[in-house]
Formats: sequence, C-alpha cells, structure tokens
Amino acid sequence: MASLLGNLFILAAPSGAGKSSLIKALMEKYASNSNNAMEVSVSHTTRKPRPGEVDGQHYHYVSREQFEALIEQGVFFEWAEVFGNYYGTSRVTIEQTLHRGIDVFLDIDWQGARQVQKLMPDTCGIFILPPSIEVLEQRLTNRGQDSDEVIAGRMKEAVAEMSHFSEFSHVIVNDDFATALNDLEAIVISQRLRTMKQQMRYQPLLDELLGSA
Ligand code: GDP
Ligand code: ADP
Ligand code: 5GP
Repeated sequence: MASLLGNLFILAAPSGAGKSSLIKALMEKYASNSNNAMEVSVSHTTRKPRPGEVDGQHYHYVSREQFEALIEQGVFFEWAEVFGNYYGTSRVTIEQTLHRGIDVFLDIDWQGARQVQKLMPDTCGIFILPPSIEVLEQRLTNRGQDSDEVIAGRMKEAVAEMSHFSEFSHVIVNDDFATALNDLEAIVISQRLRTMKQQMRYQPLLDELLGSA
C-alpha cells in the first residue's frame, strides 16, 4: 500500500488491561482539536453485545454465517478467532480513513496484529500490560460486564496474549491511568512527527523554504 498521511496504531493487551478505556480517553482529549483527527476502527464480531454496547458503535454484531460470508467476500483486512468468537477489521474503512489523513486505532488481538503488521509494516504496535495478574482479574470483575465463566476464560488466555508483547514496538504498563494515557499520547505524537509524514503534511512549506516553489 502506498504511504498514507494517516497513521495506523494497534493496541493489544489481555482483556481487561485497559485498551478500550485508554483509546476512549485519548479520543475525548483530542475531540475538540480538528488538526488531530483520529478514529477507532469498529470491528465485526460474532460475540453477543454486552449490556450498553451499541451496534455500529462498539462493534458490528453479526452471526457466524454472516461473518463467514464476509470472509469469503474478502471484506476483512484481518480477522481472528478470539475466546471462541470471530473478530475482524474491515479493509475499506481503514484504507479510506487513512487516505483522508485520519489516524486509525485498532483494538485487536495478537493474531490480528501479526496480519496487519505484515500488510502494513508502517503500523505502530502498542502492547498494554496490567500492573499485576491480580489487578487484571480485579478490573475484569469490576467492569461488571462478563459472567464469572467468561472472566475465568479470559484470565486463562491472559498469559498467552501477554507472551506476544515483544512483537510490538511499544509497551505501556497501565497502572496509574493518567500516566498510561500520557504515555499513549507521547507515542501517537512521535509517530505523527516522523519525517515521511511531516514531508507529506508540509510539502508546500518545504517547497517554499527550499526555494523550489
Ligand atoms: P476486551 O478485550 O475485554 O475489550 O474484549 P473484546 O470482546 O472487546 O475483545 C476480544 C478480543 O478480540 C481482544 O483480544 C481484542 O483485541 C480482539 N479483537 C477485537 N476486535 C478485533 C478485530 O477486529 N480483529 C482482531 N483480530 N481481533 C479483535
Ligand atoms: P480492555 O478494553 O483492555 O478489555 P477496559 O478498558 O474495558 O479493558 O478496562 C477494564 C476495566 O478496568 C474497566 O472497568 C476500566 O474502567 C478499568 N481500568 C482501566 N484502566 C485502569 C487503571 N489504570 N486503573 C484502574 N482501573 C482501570
Ligand atoms: P471483547 O469481546 O472483550 O470486546 O474483545 C475481546 C478481544 O478481542 C480483545 O482483546 C479485542 O482486542 C479483540 N478484538 C476485538 N476486535 C477485534 C478484531 O477486529 N480483530 C481482532 N483480531 N481482535 C479483535
């Protein structure tokens, strides 16, 4: 894929480490700044909506049959089976958004992250770790969204998910939330300031400064 103005970010973590909360807080912080356009990619999933989750906002909820038909049609940029459900990221939405110069955040598992980093090596991969296993379990319980059985399943998968941390270029330990949010913001800003991106953004200025306008 040709170089795009928008930056693609992946946030991966064991369930409950705080990916969704960090992305949401970052979006809210930047919401009023029109120069800082960013969007979270809304995945398709076969998981049932949790209380309060809205179709089209948290996920596009589909049946297994519908998901398999979408795989056949090549709709997905990446997809994976996580905790017994399918999850996938739509190709067209991501590509169109990056073309418009908007940064895109993917909240996806390590299997999906691998596929995306292969397709777009320019992607910035960020892994979120909890401060301890006990805190992770506490957060899943406090979130109050999943049954004890689902939480036990997610805790069982947590170590397997975390074992992939070194496949990501950045790691954030989400202990104090404000500190973790600052860390995330610092990574996002430094990605935006890379020369290749600044060159695209500031071409007219560079032409003027270098006398080739
Ligand atoms: P959470 O981790 O507690 O927020 O639980 P979710 O049910 O929202 O997500 C379940 C898992 O699916 C997580 O590991 C996500 O990173 C992963 N996931 C969500 N969307 C996608 C996607 O579009 N593609 C892939 N590959 N994984 C996804
Ligand atoms: P994920 O999207 O990774 O599954 P969430 O963002 O849903 O995780 O966070 C899990 C729970 O932990 C939520 O109830 C959230 O409010 C809480 N949480 C997230 N980060 C922190 C933190 N630094 N300190 C305390 N609680 C947190
Ligand atoms: P949850 O069911 O708690 O919303 O999500 C569980 C896990 O699925 C999370 O770790 C989340 O990052 C991952 N996930 C959500 N959407 C996708 C997706 O589109 N692709 C992949 N690969 N993983 C996803």
